[in-house]
Amino acid sequence: HVRGAVPHAQVLVDLSAIRDNAAELRVRAGSAELMAVVKADGYGHGLVPAARAAQVGGATWLGTAVLAEALALRAAGIEGRLMAWLCAPGERWTDALAADVDVSAAAPWVVAEIADAARETGRIARLHLKIDTGLGRSGSTEADWPGLVDVALKAQAEGLVNVVGLWSHFAIADAPEHPANVAQVETFRSAVALAEARGVRPEVRHLANSAATLMSPHTHFDLVRTGLAVYGLSPLADVVSPGDVGLRPAMSVRARLALVKRVTAGQGVSYGHFHVTDRETNLALVPLGYADGVPRHGSSGDGGPGGPVLIGGKIRRVAGRVCMDQFVVDAGDDHLQAGDEVVLFGDGTSGEPTAQDWAQACRTISYEIVTRFAPRLPRTYI
Ligand code: PLP
Repeated sequence: HVRGAVPHAQVLVDLSAIRDNAAELRVRAGSAELMAVVKADGYGHGLVPAARAAQVGGATWLGTAVLAEALALRAAGIEGRLMAWLCAPGERWTDALAADVDVSAAAPWVVAEIADAARETGRIARLHLKIDTGLGRSGSTEADWPGLVDVALKAQAEGLVNVVGLWSHFAIADAPEHPANVAQVETFRSAVALAEARGVRPEVRHLANSAATLMSPHTHFDLVRTGLAVYGLSPLADVVSPGDVGLRPAMSVRARLALVKRVTAGQGVSYGHFHVTDRETNLALVPLGYADGVPRHGSSGDGGPGGPVLIGGKIRRVAGRVCMDQFVVDAGDDHLQAGDEVVLFGDGTSGEPTAQDWAQACRTISYEIVTRFAPRLPRTYI
């Protein structure tokens, strides 16, 4: 039995993996600069530690979705270029400018709000204009693009903003051969050409995410924005493993069995009895549940195979439903005991499942697996 200060469950983050992944991506980016996307608490790995490790590896830019995360990075003393791209009306633009955060606009009203903040603070905003080249999410439409560019140039002429970036985001970069990628690159090129013809002198044009950075060098432009790959996971999970592209998963989730008990055949296990023991068996209780971030879709018996875990050198699966704080594994006659280590996933080198294995078992993507682990689980940095 393991006693003492060992947490009953924890998220382990190997910061050297993040550093090395960033260094690998830095090389693959060629002459483009590397932005480490650290939104969503560094994809669940911890905002500040992930950012620092990526910077050590060679990321010269950091990116977040919401401004609060960019401000938290600055509050922690993180320096270097930093961009936040998702905003709502009435955003804390003055804070963004005071913290030297690059901002993005996809519509004229955003430029107007940013210009107001620049006037108020006496700081010139570093602005990236976003074009929707086909994702159908954020970004100006092609039709509205000339108008957006002109509004930004007017604010630039007034000394309120510098248009430092022109950018967009891929829809299907995880299928590099998909024709939508060609179309997006073409649209991006013409949007850049139009902006430049009107007088924009961008410092960085950026389009590529992890998949495009790894698979499509012609999309790199001046800066690549890599998220998932920084954390050592493959955005092309079906065809490319992390190791194939020189990456190493940084996150591992581990727990210690809270209880092992012998039960008879015919015992219904967990809510709804979606697993029923078919013989006398040992049931092992894992103290992790959906409130911790274990997906309830990792349950077995009502459609899914059950999320995989490594206990005692063997891969086993969740038996029945994942509960809020715990789930059960049917261990047969194996002699497990309370305190034994359970590995939900890791880098796979010790026979444990990977985040991708969990994604597959839960019919989701590894992005969702790693970003869901709750603050109540301690993060241990190794
Ligand atoms: N750029 C933007 C605008 C994003 O929203 C994201 C994440 O979804 C990324 C880059 C990074 O994507 P990935 O994690 O696939 O590298």
